[in-house]
Amino acid sequence: MEALDGNAIAGLLEDVFGAEMTEIVHTCAACGATGPVAETLVYRQAPGTVVRCRACAGILLVIVSVRGMNCVDVSGLAELEASIGR
Ligand SMILES: [Zn+2]
Repeated sequence: MEALDGNAIAGLLEDVFGAEMTEIVHTCAACGATGPVAETLVYRQAPGTVVRCRACAGILLVIVSVRGMNCVDVSGLAELEASIGR
């Protein structure tokens, strides 16, 4: 399956987090790599979207749409830059 990047789901991330996310810096819980969300690897597969670390391919974020609601698993993220919601 072809990987997209974080820019491909900018609209989805904005729906989920209520903010523009592609410039936000994330930290991978598995390997500690940091980088903007725009540079993550994104796999869009039914029924959800999987965002992986570009360094170690670990799963950072899973977004699954259930009956029109987006359910988000952020357990692969150690940190998101604290500017969210500002
Ligand atoms: Zn990683």
